[in-house]
Amino acid sequence: MVMLVRNRELNDALRSMRFVEDRFNRKFRYPWTFLNDEPFTQEFINYTTGMASGKVQYGLINKDQWSVPDHIDLHKVKKNMEKMVSKNVIYAGSMSYRHMCRYNSGFFYRHELLKNYDWYWRVEPGVEFFCDVDYDPFTYMRTHGKVYGFVMSMYEYLATIETLWDSTKEFVRQNPQYLAADNALDFFVDGKSPSKQGDTEIDGNYNLCHFWSNFEIASLNFWRSPAYSDYFNFLDAQGGFFYERWGDAPIHSLAAGLFLPKDKIHHFGDIGYRHLPYSRCPQDEKSHVSGRCYCSRQDHFDDDGYSCLPRWWKVAGQSEGAGPRPAE
Ligand code: GDP
Ligand code: MN
Repeated sequence: MVMLVRNRELNDALRSMRFVEDRFNRKFRYPWTFLNDEPFTQEFINYTTGMASGKVQYGLINKDQWSVPDHIDLHKVKKNMEKMVSKNVIYAGSMSYRHMCRYNSGFFYRHELLKNYDWYWRVEPGVEFFCDVDYDPFTYMRTHGKVYGFVMSMYEYLATIETLWDSTKEFVRQNPQYLAADNALDFFVDGKSPSKQGDTEIDGNYNLCHFWSNFEIASLNFWRSPAYSDYFNFLDAQGGFFYERWGDAPIHSLAAGLFLPKDKIHHFGDIGYRHLPYSRCPQDEKSHVSGRCYCSRQDHFDDDGYSCLPRWWKVAGQSEGAGPRPAE
């Protein structure tokens, strides 16, 4: 269980932990890893240790992974930030948000404390889990050959990633060997027919669909792979983390969708989840009559107009809401 978090978010961190422990982890006792760009306070350590059913570890982020690289033109960063602020783009004026997105994109999986792990579940402060998870999702991922797992999917704000798609296309042109056969390109580009073995380029316009990365259950080794490492380094050199405000969500999503066969991506349809402003509650009768879930069935972001999940169902060849619980 991995949480990147600030000291002042202690209460929200405890709240997320309470949900995760009650619904899942008290039976499994997976260790928690907390990461921060500042040292954790003793209070933060004491309270989160108390909430955890398993081991806990606290990591400080290397300064050089949370600072502006030398090749970035700070004058241009400032100018672009002001432009984005005037357009009311969310987090447009925040430098720390940019560091956070870059860290989640390119560094967390290389942290010393995660060295011995293959899998992680990303937990953010202030989220809620509505349903019991009484099987081990890590085992599920491993035994079903899955690499990336998500719960919600939606559109990204174009103003935050104006050149991300062009950069991604350029990366794939330069590195066609990383494009997986049977990738999920048709999730990102409307009207695209599923890509076939031997395709070496991607084209079309990005529809902004991505997996919401505040929840992730995924393989750390995918991010550590040559394909993703090269992709991150290429993007970092473009400077879009600072000149724009590239998020880790579209970057993780594009990488998973293009460098993996699509059947390695798993939608956790059985997980009830809230990260404001959205929540989703499993819609099947069984999850409710069994008492497994406590959530309002009105909360079905999945088929909201802003959700990309209907596209995912089509791409993945699943019928709507396909089976709330993975076959165990
Ligand atoms: P949002 O979900 O996009 O609105 O952004 P959040 O504020 O939730 O930030 C995403 C994640 O990064 C959360 O886990 C935050 O606790 C964490 N985070 C954001 N900014 C910082 C920061 O400056 N320092 C640290 N240590 N964590 C941060
Ligand atoms: Mn958040």
